[in-house]
Amino acid sequence: MNSLPRRYDQSQKLSDVLYDIRGPVLDEAERMEAEGHRILKLNIGNPAPFGFECPDSILVDMIAHLPTAQGYSDSRGIPSARRAVVQYYETRGIDGLDADDVYLGNGVSELITLSLQALCDPGDEILVPTPDYPLWTASVTLSGGTPVHYECDEQAGWLPDLDDIAAKITDRTRGIVVINPNNPTGAVYPREVLEGIVRIAREHGLIVFSDEIYEKITYHGAEMVNTAQVAGDEVLCLTYSGLSKAYRIAGYRSGWLAITGPKGQAASYIEGIRLLANMRMCANVPGQHAIQAALGGRQSIEELVLPTGRLGAQMDLSLEKLNAIDGIECQPAHGALYLFPKLDVERFGIVDDERFALDLLREQKILVSHGSAFNWARPDHFRLVTLPSVEVLDEALNRLGDFLSGYRQQA
Ligand code: PLP
Repeated sequence: MNSLPRRYDQSQKLSDVLYDIRGPVLDEAERMEAEGHRILKLNIGNPAPFGFECPDSILVDMIAHLPTAQGYSDSRGIPSARRAVVQYYETRGIDGLDADDVYLGNGVSELITLSLQALCDPGDEILVPTPDYPLWTASVTLSGGTPVHYECDEQAGWLPDLDDIAAKITDRTRGIVVINPNNPTGAVYPREVLEGIVRIAREHGLIVFSDEIYEKITYHGAEMVNTAQVAGDEVLCLTYSGLSKAYRIAGYRSGWLAITGPKGQAASYIEGIRLLANMRMCANVPGQHAIQAALGGRQSIEELVLPTGRLGAQMDLSLEKLNAIDGIECQPAHGALYLFPKLDVERFGIVDDERFALDLLREQKILVSHGSAFNWARPDHFRLVTLPSVEVLDEALNRLGDFLSGYRQQA
């Protein structure tokens, strides 16, 4: 018998899968924390640690259902929550959705992976924005597909470049990913842009995957239009949303996927989604019970995003302070919880944005995510999370300004 020590390697299918917002910079922050340093973490959009609490009505409903949430549910989710999702979308002008078209998941994350696994054959191409929320690119790769990045134009407020989308379509393209409101840029797409994307999808028979997890978080009256409403009956549209952000319960892992459009033509794909949903039994059932309560009330979100509300005030302050720093230029965000500022790479000698994030971490104990973690090809951006209080952000951005005033990346 062979008794040589052996290595236990990860699968080769992970070799191109990147999720660097939880990568080496975070490892370094954790190492520093273990040494006793206090790190200000401006790297992930997790509302709870910043004092955002779940509305009581959601908690009370979930607690009341705990005794009856012990068993597996239908693999698509409990009917009352799926019906609540249908009713919610009806109020948004989306018709023809049935509870059977709604799948509940352990957050949007699980449903993104699941729906791409069900679709992609090797070589199938999915158009993903750059910059993106990196789970999309990673999940396309993991599913055997090929992510093809389309540009979002910073000078146009980070709106998708429709010509670039059209130019990148090949006979292997299966779908277009839309993240609206966008992470990391904060862009909220006007109806005409969504109409343009839907038109391209219709012409080429593509699926639109619309990640709308930040739907309720928009600022200064920006209007959020659901892609499914624009897509109507003619374009297959998968809409993803959930309770992690606006409803402040990321830890309960509760999200949904709603399928609209020509479902008859997608019967085989939907059967695949159903198969994968069955294989993981069901989503966390107590988290499913939060959905009806969340969608049935106002949940104080409107107040939070006003300029006088916490999220609105934090966003306004962050934008103003970033743009006051020499060598930074930042587009306003109209939604979500992030800003994606541009660094003057000439001035700071930046060739490696991960090193920039590490240098900032080591010198100022502030953790941000480097732009290339969002599949952005140039080393000239980083993402700031605007969840901390104005006092904390004010101090952090003063420290960032101090840091940059003397920063020059070593060759
Ligand atoms: N989609 C986007 C654009 C996100 O930013 C996030 C989390 O930050 C997710 C999906 C994941 O959400 P969930 O907590 O529902 O898995």
